[in-house]
Amino acid sequence: MSREEVKRILDEEKILPRSRFGQNFLVDDDVIGRIIGLIGAEQEDLILEIGPGLGALTKPMCAFYGNITAVEIDKDLATYLDNEPSVTAKIINSDYLKVKVDSYNASDVSYVVSNLPYYCMTPVMKKIFSDCNNARKMVLMTEDEAYPRIVATKNTKDYGPLAVLVSLFGVCSKEFNVPGNCFYPVPRTLSCVISLERGEEASSITPDFISFVEKCFAMRRKKLMNNLKPYYPQDVLDRVIGNKDIRAEDMESIEFSRLYRDIISMISNK
Ligand code: SAM
Repeated sequence: MSREEVKRILDEEKILPRSRFGQNFLVDDDVIGRIIGLIGAEQEDLILEIGPGLGALTKPMCAFYGNITAVEIDKDLATYLDNEPSVTAKIINSDYLKVKVDSYNASDVSYVVSNLPYYCMTPVMKKIFSDCNNARKMVLMTEDEAYPRIVATKNTKDYGPLAVLVSLFGVCSKEFNVPGNCFYPVPRTLSCVISLERGEEASSITPDFISFVEKCFAMRRKKLMNNLKPYYPQDVLDRVIGNKDIRAEDMESIEFSRLYRDIISMISNK
């Protein structure tokens, strides 16, 4: 989709890009082709797209794939896509953060594609992890400056729940950068495309586990024991937390899933 095409559609549909929804539309066919090329799904796999916009990714995906659901917050854009013959995807007009798992068959989603709205990247990624428990691969575009937070390792300032979930999901790679002139309107920031491939630990990510990791990091400088005290019996915590001085920021992602498993099994055996 070219800059001229995007401008023409916006003009015809009388739509103004809404900055509050992070609307910077892709206008570079090379970038679009490279993103689509990273997906690698089978024809019938359920693909979820978050924020399809004017369909820069949706339209070419519809030419390849037969089972796409796209969630778009903006009513005008959702209506445009619904009326567009080349868009065979199921369009849901909703804030992705509010959409219910059943309404988009989240457990059947195999691939997730999104030029993420940057203002809500973290909650969107957490919801994908929480809802799409069988996802095999995610291809996401985000702000380049957010990448360190996504792949942060323990004992760094960027390390937090998001990095723990990404690391447990599998392998995260930065594929390529996308400069501002590939979008309309041109954003101030550099973007990057990342891919996340499912690994062996991905199934340990559940909604309850996500909430557990968030509790562990609730007060970053507090010891893990103190952050978890309000939620679990003290005798259980005494038995499962070997190092009483440890903080969440000192723990590898895999240690969170082991600790959570231990706490839950001890509580259920009580
Ligand atoms: N995918 C299109 C592209 O690459 O040209 C548009 C990308 S634009 C950066 C982000 C899109 O996400 C916009 O269409 C915006 O309306 C939509 N969006 C923003 N917040 C959203 C949310 N919470 N749920 C669903 N869509 C959202």
